[in-house]
Amino acid sequence: MFVTGAIENEYEWAAGEAASRFFEGLRNRTFLGTICRRCDVKVVPPLRFCPRCLKDMEFTPVEGKGEVVAAVRVSRDFPNNPWKSPYVLVGVKIDGTSSIFYHRYLHSKHIPEIGTRVRLVWEEETTGSLADIRGFEPEGKETVNSGEQDLPAPAKPKVINGRIRVQYEWALGSMGDLFRKNIRQGKLVGVKCPGCHRVLFPPFPYCGVCFTRCEEVVELPDEGVVDSWVPYYLKIPDSPLQPPVIFARIVLSGSHTPFNHLIRGSPESIRTGMRVRAVWSEKREGSLKDILYFEPVEE
Ligand SMILES: [Zn+2]
Ligand SMILES: [Zn+2]
Repeated sequence: MFVTGAIENEYEWAAGEAASRFFEGLRNRTFLGTICRRCDVKVVPPLRFCPRCLKDMEFTPVEGKGEVVAAVRVSRDFPNNPWKSPYVLVGVKIDGTSSIFYHRYLHSKHIPEIGTRVRLVWEEETTGSLADIRGFEPEGKETVNSGEQDLPAPAKPKVINGRIRVQYEWALGSMGDLFRKNIRQGKLVGVKCPGCHRVLFPPFPYCGVCFTRCEEVVELPDEGVVDSWVPYYLKIPDSPLQPPVIFARIVLSGSHTPFNHLIRGSPESIRTGMRVRAVWSEKREGSLKDILYFEPVEE
């Protein structure tokens, strides 16, 4: 059986000085990199510290020209990607740098040959994002916009808000199927390994410790102990818990392997080794999400 779904979460990314200045540069049609004069290392996009000597690097405009070192045709559309397929992605070794910069190849539906000389083409309107670059075109063509090469003023740190969605299709396997059927009825099952006598939860067809095939199914209680935990400060989609949320590794009583789940409680109230019990959801879909979270058991 296959389970299809998506992992989706919001993020807030503090881009830091180097990336902030890079994006600000794009707004001014400047392709900004950094150079380490000690090691003669130049990179684009810029890095704050030299990858060789770890000292400060100096910001410098880079000419958007180079040589194609990798190319691939993309024939599928992805969510939030403005480019419609088919298009060609190229890796361009930018002249004078040690960087390979990936972007779209313009002017052709054909995959360019490795070694093709290309140059960067800017969009008419710029917004301070990677989309300010329209792509790379073969060097022989007439260009509409050529890059201005003024060093942009130091930018204030940029924070990028976004949402990431990763779709998946997962083959459950025999044990996954069994796990799913049982949890839908509010039952937790594991398997007992005949080799090392450990009980694995969730169940797997092979023991991860001794690689023996496991077939003996055992029912487990919905109670266990906290093995380790960490507070998490963002909202978790579909969870009734408000941040900070406790992410924990929990070992069910009678089992020997930890799994990840949430615990209701403040970071101050959680300790390793404390007993917890599952709080079940009304809605059952046949996954560990049928348990909303675990809560501490009064002792
Ligand atoms: Zn260096
Ligand atoms: Zn084993």
